[in-house]
Amino acid sequence: MTKKKAPDYGNATWEYVTYAPRGSTCSACLREVRAMEPVRRGAFERAPGNPVVVYRHAEHCPRGAGA
Ligand SMILES: [Zn+2]
Repeated sequence: MTKKKAPDYGNATWEYVTYAPRGSTCSACLREVRAMEPVRRGAFERAPGNPVVVYRHAEHCPRGAGA
């Protein structure tokens, strides 16, 4: 039923650059973020009052820049 595709985080608010918790994945390329890779922290509301935190490679994302 569900197609496998990257979630749409287009409405996320991207905040500061930080390091993701171990085991986090980049929302753009869906690869696991390594321990020393900087990520940009983002938050968006999947449902009202229920913000979800996501991470995206701050640099060197295999998905490419500008995505
Ligand atoms: Zn990435």
